[in-house]
Amino acid sequence: MLNIVIFGAPGSGKGTQSARIVEKYGLNHISTGDVLRAEIKNGTELGQTAKGYIDQGQLIPDSLMIDILASVFDSFKDSKGVIFDGFPRTIAQAEALKAMLSDREQGVSIMLDLDVPEDELMTRLIKRGQESGRADDNEETIKKRLVVYHTQTAPLIDWYKTDGKYCHINGLGTMDGIFAEIAEAIDKVNG
Ligand code: AMP
Repeated sequence: MLNIVIFGAPGSGKGTQSARIVEKYGLNHISTGDVLRAEIKNGTELGQTAKGYIDQGQLIPDSLMIDILASVFDSFKDSKGVIFDGFPRTIAQAEALKAMLSDREQGVSIMLDLDVPEDELMTRLIKRGQESGRADDNEETIKKRLVVYHTQTAPLIDWYKTDGKYCHINGLGTMDGIFAEIAEAIDKVNG
């Protein structure tokens, strides 16, 4: 299986590029943010819990996220591979992902780090908030999410470097140009 972690700060283009990866490589896609937003929309208990964290720009507790991830992963049948979008976001989640995949005789093939400068992230997220109306894409919450990214999520860059899976992608440029760099990186590990 081709298992890809797509990584980056909020607004780095993970969702957009994931859709193109899914199309080209025929993978299943897990966006933990989308899973949580669907739970909120459906008014479930999990959704209610998640909303409190999301509105504050905070992360949902690891134990909850890890259970959700495993259950979505196990729902895929005859999968060619999975793209993990928005997960892991903490070292504990990365360790849990590694253990979960290893229990299923799998592993992460590559971690793609979409690198975008901070001022560009802010501009993109404010624009997205105006267009999509996503409640957490307002300036105050965006600032909190970026702090959470730097303190809790960015340490994963070194974690994946140590694990030998890290691949830097320049996240500035055209969608096609960025995707070409991503596809080249994937093709190297998917030989
Ligand atoms: P996203 O759509 O990936 O930007 O996620 C939106 C929000 O959902 C985040 O700001 C978090 O509150 C929550 N969330 C999504 N994925 C995770 C995760 N892996 N761990 C904890 N919280 C998450």
